[in-house]
Amino acid sequence: MKYIAEPFKIKMVEPLRLTTPEYRRQAIQQAHYNGFALPAADVYIDLQTDSGTGAMSDAQWAGLMVGDESYSGGRSYFRLMAVAQDIFGYQYNQPVHQGRAAEKVVFPTLTQPGQYWLSNTFFDTTRGHVGLAGGRPVDLVCPEGLDTGAYADFKGNMDVAALRDFIVQHGVESIAGIVMTITNNTVGGQPVSVANMRQVSQVAREFGLPLLIDAARFAENALFVKQREPEFAQASLRHITKEMFSYGDLFTMSAKKDAIVSMGGLVGVRDNPELVERIKANVIPFEGYLTYGGLAGRDLEAIAIGLEEGLDEDYLRYRIGQSQYLADRLEADGVPFQSPVGGHGVFVDAGRLLPHIPWQQFPGHALAIELYLEAGVRACDIGSLLMDRDPVTGQPQRAPAEFTRLAIPRRVYTQAHLDVVADALAAVKDRADSVPGYEIVWEPKVLRHFTARLRPVG
Ligand SMILES: *Cc1c(COP(=O)(O)O)cnc(C)c1O
Repeated sequence: MKYIAEPFKIKMVEPLRLTTPEYRRQAIQQAHYNGFALPAADVYIDLQTDSGTGAMSDAQWAGLMVGDESYSGGRSYFRLMAVAQDIFGYQYNQPVHQGRAAEKVVFPTLTQPGQYWLSNTFFDTTRGHVGLAGGRPVDLVCPEGLDTGAYADFKGNMDVAALRDFIVQHGVESIAGIVMTITNNTVGGQPVSVANMRQVSQVAREFGLPLLIDAARFAENALFVKQREPEFAQASLRHITKEMFSYGDLFTMSAKKDAIVSMGGLVGVRDNPELVERIKANVIPFEGYLTYGGLAGRDLEAIAIGLEEGLDEDYLRYRIGQSQYLADRLEADGVPFQSPVGGHGVFVDAGRLLPHIPWQQFPGHALAIELYLEAGVRACDIGSLLMDRDPVTGQPQRAPAEFTRLAIPRRVYTQAHLDVVADALAAVKDRADSVPGYEIVWEPKVLRHFTARLRPVG
């Protein structure tokens, strides 16, 4: 595939530091073989996450200067409200400081202790907030979603039959609601079709359950719909987004993804004044007054501009094109990955690339460390290191697949940077036999991957 050239030019640069293999060997050892503990200055190409790491446009930076810092009723708040209402079509929109803050103010308003929330797949913070609200998260992704080798257009979809069965079997009173994550981050940024959303909303209406959209990557999802769902081949991304959201009742959103800001989030409620009042009652003590929601006025301005830029079709084709370009280079080099690639990066199948490393020694993590040693590229494990121990037995839990995630920040890296990453992976593949597994020296009880200390085995 041809690289889709950037639909922008560069007018501000941030220097990167090149380091030697010897320097990186020492740096990663001092970081106890955990990429999260590396100073970012020691990283050349940082593919750890696409969250809050995008490059803002000149319009967004200019927006920071005109942001209105009034405590209540600021101009930037009203600008963001107008843009959000126009894009999503919901009556009520509420800024919050990031995606998990949206989850924190919403889930307790809709959850009775012990009730299930059903999703195409929960993102980890969403899963966490369902649990904190006393609920029980259940993933019901379609079977194609978990088959890394097989091609399917919409691997992020809900298994609608399983959804209906679950509700009937457990009784509707035991269900709090349904969450559709678009794109489906955890299965690799895989898209959800409008057709699937329609079916899910029918089930939600039939049983009188609220349908919540986890909307972090709504714009990338809209482009996939346009490219892969024939009904929408001629539709604008705004039309697709409106239609998608018309099937939901409310949404939570991290603006750090498709709205291309460093910090921010949003809640939307289509048409439920009583629910809005309960959400407001949580926003004020946790996030601050309703018209700033944990953010500065300038942040609201940047989100309003970023939401519109993030829906630009030329930009999105280039953005998703970057993942596809990197994937094509890996394919040519025989490096296995979750196929087709999703919106926000490439999930390399480290389990298949490093078959001599057992899952207990974290192939996804081993590959991430090796990429750092090879070329200063920082990636992260989406595999068995990410899985915490079983809370009851304390036994390690095996992930369904051992991935190394190469998340691509928005508007940040060039084709040549992606070539460095692909070349590094090819070099690691050539000496795959000599790549060691890792064992944990110290770990916390939950979310261990952020702070665990490790060492190479042997
Ligand atoms: C990032 C993300 C969140 C959480 O948002 P934060 O801004 O990191 O708190 C929730 N859901 C999905 C799908 C995400 O990608």
